[in-house]
Amino acid sequence: MLAVVKALAYGSDATAIALHLEKIGADYLGVAYAAEGVELRKAGIKIPILVLHPQPENFELCTEFNLEPSLYSKRVLEYFIEHVKRKNSVDFPVHIKFNSGLNRLGFHVNDFDYLVETIADGSLKIKGLFSHLAASEDLNEKGFTLQQIEKFNSFSQKFIQKTGISPILHQSNTSGILNFPEAHFNMVRTGIGLYGFGNDAQYDNNLKPIASLTATISQIHIVKAGESLGYNRGYKAKSTIKTATITIGHADGIDRIYGHGKGYVIINDKQAYILGIVCMDMLMVDITDIDCEEGEEVIIFNENYPAHELAESVGTISYELITGIGPRIKRILKN
Ligand SMILES: *Cc1c(COP(=O)(O)O)cnc(C)c1O
Repeated sequence: MLAVVKALAYGSDATAIALHLEKIGADYLGVAYAAEGVELRKAGIKIPILVLHPQPENFELCTEFNLEPSLYSKRVLEYFIEHVKRKNSVDFPVHIKFNSGLNRLGFHVNDFDYLVETIADGSLKIKGLFSHLAASEDLNEKGFTLQQIEKFNSFSQKFIQKTGISPILHQSNTSGILNFPEAHFNMVRTGIGLYGFGNDAQYDNNLKPIASLTATISQIHIVKAGESLGYNRGYKAKSTIKTATITIGHADGIDRIYGHGKGYVIINDKQAYILGIVCMDMLMVDITDIDCEEGEEVIIFNENYPAHELAESVGTISYELITGIGPRIKRILKN
């Protein structure tokens, strides 16, 4: 199993999570960019690290810190071969990325001969051959996903036959793991699932979000009918209401889209909707019907109020909300 710890382990703490995953037996770690892998190596991580989206200017970091690059195009493959030759390195482990339909990164079916010829010189060890699913969480697209699996399967079988190499084959992200057992191959790459989200109510019930995000009520106001609240008078009171100013804003990842009554925070087990415009450092919520005091803790998301529900209130997904949590929020680790 490859555990994906890119983007600060989905907004948490990449090093702490990666050390823990290594300890409990993850086979591989996955990051998006080489610099993320360097951080993990500097923290003492020993297990293999796959860099999913390396750039030629960072190939030096890959070889220096033993990070296995995904080679996804002719340009990066040729640059990487040139790079390892310059270093007199042989058998450097890499993973070849095949585009089975996402059309984001990867070699096309008709690059097969080029690929086989280009890797034949032995400067690389083809440790993995992989692909990525476009719609594994969307069962309306099941037919498309099955096609992606079939394309990857036939490309890899052909590759194995032609080269005699047997790389680790991997195609599934979290929803691929959950919905498509036929796409497990020799390894799976789980990201969001590790952090407690299954992209589906059926799976969410069996997963536990690992992170909670809290803030504080800093001030309470009575806003009278006719008065306004926040920047640009974003909210105008039609009747007298009670509001609380909360210590989190768009600089922390609670974007302006959560404003104007769409998003909410949790105070004493009740939803307090965000009024008007979200500020950089704070936001204001309606607490007219909530019993609470200044200084009290507010929940943005936790195990009982999962991030995906808040995210869905503004039409986005858990991934975007949790990975967007800013650096000003202190990450506190608990066991
Ligand atoms: C981010 C990523 C994953 C993990 O996806 P989840 O949906 O979070 O499980 C797997 N593979 C690739 C190539 C990725 O970019």
